[in-house]
Amino acid sequence: MSKIKTRFAPSPTGLLHLGNVRTALLNWLFARKYGGDFVLRFEDTDADRSQAEYIEAIRRDMDWLGLNRDGTELFQSQRTDQHRQALAQLSEAGQAYRCFCSEHQLALDRKLAASRGLPPRYVGRCRNLDAGETRTRSANEPFIWRLAIHDNEGNVTVRDTLRGDVVFAQRDLDDPVVARSDGTFTFLLPNAVDDALDKITHVLRGDDHLTNSAYQVWLLAELGYTPPVYLHHGLLLGSDGAKLSKRSGSHSVAELRDAGLLPQALLQTMTRVGHPNMPEDADINTLLAHFEPNQLSASAVRWQNDELWRWQTRLLHGLPVQALLLHLNPILPEANADFAGLVQGNLQKFDDALHYRRLLDVHAPLDADALLVGQQAGENFYTAAVSTWQTHGAAGWKIWADALKAATGAKGRDLFMPLRVALSGATHGPEMSHIVEYLGDSGVLSRLQDMTARVRA
Ligand code: GLU
Repeated sequence: MSKIKTRFAPSPTGLLHLGNVRTALLNWLFARKYGGDFVLRFEDTDADRSQAEYIEAIRRDMDWLGLNRDGTELFQSQRTDQHRQALAQLSEAGQAYRCFCSEHQLALDRKLAASRGLPPRYVGRCRNLDAGETRTRSANEPFIWRLAIHDNEGNVTVRDTLRGDVVFAQRDLDDPVVARSDGTFTFLLPNAVDDALDKITHVLRGDDHLTNSAYQVWLLAELGYTPPVYLHHGLLLGSDGAKLSKRSGSHSVAELRDAGLLPQALLQTMTRVGHPNMPEDADINTLLAHFEPNQLSASAVRWQNDELWRWQTRLLHGLPVQALLLHLNPILPEANADFAGLVQGNLQKFDDALHYRRLLDVHAPLDADALLVGQQAGENFYTAAVSTWQTHGAAGWKIWADALKAATGAKGRDLFMPLRVALSGATHGPEMSHIVEYLGDSGVLSRLQDMTARVRA
């Protein structure tokens, strides 16, 4: 058998979203699992909508995710000659024909079929026009190209890793449009011909493509190519079971990256979707070792956004401090290793660190709720906090807290919360003993004095 080769074939008409990530990841996993090649092919034949900036963005997203590619990048737009040649070959063999039916006519046909309870297939009006009529009309009328599939007795078999052989009777298939009246191709022909030219052995994609695969298997066989083996997985749905949308968790990869997501969190979550028995806390190589393509769910699966952020938190808590700092410094330049180590366990996302700016800078703005806690405690409380700190601070948090409790009568939450907001700026966070140790004598004192001044009536 020839070397396994898969591809990711995005149309560069927008940013990568979660559905695209899944397709790319599955094809990557498949190739890597079996020592094959994984290539990137831009299906950029829609000149109006394809944009260089999306090509760049797709590359960047794939690099960020670590989905490395083999060979050179492929561009569908460079293959137009081969696509035309394939159509000419099909036409000469009588397997593709020109259809002159107007949009209006086709819409009427569909309406009629619906009223009779029939599938909305092409009625075949232009299927058997003679050569003379075709020639004359071609000179004067616009036309599209269709594949002559329906009016035959045979079967088309799609080899599918998950579903086994899926057999379509040609009578149940349509005569699909392969080229539009402006001469451009629809998805079917270039996508299949490129798979053949690129020697793609396996195509993993959503089961919404199953019928397309039947057309493509037929088309490739007519052109004398061996079709790839397909794997049609169940579609990825939003957490609400409907089509993925922003609300149900679908965001572009770029947006997730900008929100501080770790690529590993996305890979972890995505590899698990629709694939049972994946190990917990595994790096990509371990996930790869456990990836079994024929265990992928053939039915639709739901995206779990909570799961994504749960992994993010777990991974974030396990990061070495220096690695954490690399994520914190862009949003908090003054953050250092001590600070990162102190707050790490209290972060769910990197920008949660912004809640603790007061730990770095006594002049950092104070949140309204933190200030309110301070005001409720009052000036006298903080004055007592300053003087007890001066007498007992050196003995550590516990002794200081006891001394302040004795001096003010405050206890429990009323004792700890005003101190927490004064020292850290937040109403929750690391243990007070750790905060006190981190700030040191002058750090604690300056924050208590600042808070005293702020709450002074
Ligand atoms: N360009 C197609 C798409 O983005 C490729 C589909 C396929 O994987 O064959 O939907």
